[in-house]
Amino acid sequence: MDYEKDTIAAISTPLGEGGIGIIRISGDDAFRIADKIFVPRKIKPGEMKPRTLYLGDIIDPETKDTIDEVLVVKYKAPHTYTREDMVEINSHGGFTVQSRILEVVLSCGARMAQPGEFTKRAFLNGRIDLSQAEAVIDVIRAKTERALKVAMDQLRGGLSNRIGELRQDLIKVLAHIEASIDFPEDDIPGLDSATIAMEVKDLREKLEEILRKSKAGKIVREGLSTVILGRPNVGKSSLLNSLLREKRAIVTDIPGTTRDIIEEYINIKGIPVKIIDTAGIRETLDEVEKIGVKKALEYLEKAELVLLMFDASEELKKEDLDIVELVKDKFVILVVNKVDLPEKIDMEKLEKTFPERKIIRISALKEEGIEELKEAIFQAVTKEIGSLDEGVMVTRARHSQAIQKAVDALKRAEGALKESIPMEVVAMEVREALEFLGEITGDNVGEDVIKAIFENFCIGK
Ligand code: GDP
Ligand code: ZN
Repeated sequence: MDYEKDTIAAISTPLGEGGIGIIRISGDDAFRIADKIFVPRKIKPGEMKPRTLYLGDIIDPETKDTIDEVLVVKYKAPHTYTREDMVEINSHGGFTVQSRILEVVLSCGARMAQPGEFTKRAFLNGRIDLSQAEAVIDVIRAKTERALKVAMDQLRGGLSNRIGELRQDLIKVLAHIEASIDFPEDDIPGLDSATIAMEVKDLREKLEEILRKSKAGKIVREGLSTVILGRPNVGKSSLLNSLLREKRAIVTDIPGTTRDIIEEYINIKGIPVKIIDTAGIRETLDEVEKIGVKKALEYLEKAELVLLMFDASEELKKEDLDIVELVKDKFVILVVNKVDLPEKIDMEKLEKTFPERKIIRISALKEEGIEELKEAIFQAVTKEIGSLDEGVMVTRARHSQAIQKAVDALKRAEGALKESIPMEVVAMEVREALEFLGEITGDNVGEDVIKAIFENFCIGK
């Protein structure tokens, strides 16, 4: 894929009162632009060695005004992020200073970079593949350390390598299939359809194994959507508050990455638990309380986990039991609140009404039982999705869809082998599977997909 190799520039640190700001320039003109606006202290601009930090001033070439005292590094292609010549200007933080520096960089001939354009160039120039480019955003937005670890693994090529291996294996199978088409009479061991069918099945199962873990991957990347449900006054808001009080936001500390702060997450042993729109919950639930079951259903639909709350100090009411129907297909933990008060709730009836659901007793007010609740959430999640620690993890729908399509193609190939349909058809299906896997690394994707991926980036990445 070709692109216009003009020189681009952007502020790569978040705007605002940071300690330092970094302006990045990438492209053939990067060094020329740096030499025009940067005056190092002890040497001439042209004498700057790559990969060395120089102290000096940024000068407006028009007015000769000094804009800021900065540190500048040149990076020589191809050993750079974009595989183009790059310059990094470390300025003081602050919107005005950074904007002024960017302005003079642009006035010397650079163009303002689009979102993700540096990473896009790294991809187009073959430094990283598409799944690695996607991991760049995931690293930046990682919500827990575990999510960060998974994203870093993908960034280092963990997923790409695994998919690459499987593609190599598929290519071998394809070679066997094609050889059996070319030499149908000979009885070459390994080329009979039974052996080929076994090879295809084996690869299909390996892909399915990766798919099985994609649910875990999705939760690690996006968080577990959670709703706290219960009739008015059981203590939903109180529970939410005590959970949020302990929330530990994890931000990445990798140089050059932006800290994007997004939603409210609670980190439960590395599982990001997303309380869907914290402020909204209170309102929506109050609305649910008013409008009733229909609205609640809509809201529930998005939730992966329901914390269903009851008031221990009151008898079970009709409204409590009405909720049974709503959550029958959901992943539910029963939370009996207000255990600090004299107990009136009929626990036996509760257990009978919700058989096989875990019950946790808490006092949101006294913050008792909160740890047990977290442990129950963690246990339930890992039981449902398996361990979060082993092997390559698919975190994106785009990847799991591609793998699913490859699996389907291989199933068709197996079917064709069983029915003694001509080997050409089998070969076609296997080739198709190969192409689907190629979508993950970007060997085989349309421009529209690439565009959509990089649009999600922030400017300066
Ligand atoms: P919501 O309507 O379900 O959101 O319930 P709230 O969180 O607003 O709580 C309703 C009332 O119950 C408030 O007065 C809380 O202080 C009280 N409350 C909540 N949790 C507890 C608890 O664990 N023990 C006691 N004694 N009171 C609680
Ligand atoms: Zn409330």
